[in-house]
Amino acid sequence: MAAYLERFLTLLTNAFDLLRWQDVVDMLLIAFLLYKVLMFVRESSAAQVIKTIVGVVIVTQLLDLLQLNVSHYIFASALQIGILAIIILFQPELRRMLNSVGQRPILRFFSLSEAPDENETLRAIALLTETADKLSRSRTGALICIERENRLGDIIKTGTQVNADISDDLLGNIFYDKAPLHDGAVVIQNWRIAAAGCRLPLSENKSISRDLGMRHRAGLGLSEATDAFVLIVSEETGGITVADGGIFKRNLTPEMLSSMMKKEFFDGSAEKTTIRRLFPWNRKRKDGSADVK
Ligand code: ATP
Ligand code: MG
Repeated sequence: MAAYLERFLTLLTNAFDLLRWQDVVDMLLIAFLLYKVLMFVRESSAAQVIKTIVGVVIVTQLLDLLQLNVSHYIFASALQIGILAIIILFQPELRRMLNSVGQRPILRFFSLSEAPDENETLRAIALLTETADKLSRSRTGALICIERENRLGDIIKTGTQVNADISDDLLGNIFYDKAPLHDGAVVIQNWRIAAAGCRLPLSENKSISRDLGMRHRAGLGLSEATDAFVLIVSEETGGITVADGGIFKRNLTPEMLSSMMKKEFFDGSAEKTTIRRLFPWNRKRKDGSADVK
């Protein structure tokens, strides 16, 4: 017994002697990637599929070891077709993952987007705040998505192109409940109304308050999938809510909305968003119960 223990300890010491710093980095990298994949799998409906793939991989390896050639060939082929099928089936999830990779600072560096003019931004913030206030007072439901780094071209395609200056009259008209474009979201791109009647991805967050319906779920969904700043006005309560980075900020007054937007679209907003996306566990509660800053 003592001899075995001694041999084991010698082996362990030798292993440590052979360990290079690159191996440590290698292991940390793999651990981090595994953690990310596990988190992704846990949060999505992909869990069952991944379990099946792991099962098939294990069986394929076993068949190879046992030299059952025909069975191994069939399983290996099925695995290849399966991977192709997964890429097609999980296209939305994969896009979401790639989208969030695009928000990493190193890739942001290569972004072609120009910084918007400061006065234009201030004017747009004032107009949107006034619009939110008016819509809130008249209990008109509204969903407005403001594009930032992540392009919302795919979202725009689901609606009707507008391409007009921001104005409270126009937004009031769009969201008027008898107007043809009131259903869906407006997308703001470069401080212009790019499109209306757009369909957003719905959030699958199970802890969203029960008093919030599809409009809020759609707003939160887009803010989870992209870095868009989403402004929501409730038809039922007139409440003004912002969805940003998968978090609701509810019961906002026009003043709170204005200062929040100034903070978001000026001083260090890009870094803030990046930090939140790099360290998602720092996020606050997602149920929207007390997210007012
Ligand atoms: P409110 O407080 O205004 O009632 P809510 O969160 O309770 O909002 P609903 O009452 O379910 O939401 O709002 C329905 C409206 O939400 C629809 O008429 C439509 O305009 C919008 N909506 C629903 N799903 C989507 C979607 N996927 N993308 C964009 N807009 C959507
Ligand atoms: Mg409702």
